[in-house]
Amino acid sequence: MASALPDGAAPQNRRMRIATDLSRIGVEVAALLLAATCGGCGEPGILLCGKCREALRPELQDSMTPRGLRVRAAFPFDGVAARCIRRLKGEGETFLARPLGAALAEALALETTPTTWVVPVPTTAKAFRRRGYRVPDLLIRRAHVEPQRVLSVAADTIDQRGLGAHDRAANVHRTMRARRRGEGAEAVIVDDVVTTGATLDEAARALHAGGFRVVAAVALAATPRRGGFG
Ligand SMILES: [Zn+2]
Repeated sequence: MASALPDGAAPQNRRMRIATDLSRIGVEVAALLLAATCGGCGEPGILLCGKCREALRPELQDSMTPRGLRVRAAFPFDGVAARCIRRLKGEGETFLARPLGAALAEALALETTPTTWVVPVPTTAKAFRRRGYRVPDLLIRRAHVEPQRVLSVAADTIDQRGLGAHDRAANVHRTMRARRRGEGAEAVIVDDVVTTGATLDEAARALHAGGFRVVAAVALAATPRRGGFG
């Protein structure tokens, strides 16, 4: 008898094929887990162990950028949080955005109201090509907030790593612009890791130029620095 199924397979054959597919997926998931190591401590066979999950409870940090913008960070850039952030940024382990985003949510909640624009620091085209995702935007989404991609990078800066505070500021100055007018709207800038605060200052400058009122910045982690910041 003719089957109603589009490929003409008998239902029992289809069920068998689905079962085979599922067991193949199961094998692949098991293989993935066997290859996995904890994002925080490297323990094999797990994506994030209980102890490291526990260590991702926020330890709120307050600091100030060179130009006086208040920064609230969920963690010091250290230990389990720093290792998880490195793996999220450097090794494509996007599942870590979920526990990290939950920590960011706590810092964000202290600085925003329902009408605040939550603006991620823009990702350069080069970084986006390399990763395939925008780290600050992803973290904001995992904090259950919709990122407002108001800022764009007008010019590609050179890698900030290895630059001192003065060079970082010079490197990012006037590299961003606001693509929309703020009309006095309140904005909070979000970045993953804040080091000298130069990037946040540039983001604040561009938002002010676009008519926004920047009230604070929120970061997932802040690097403590000798001589003030942190
Ligand atoms: Zn661990």
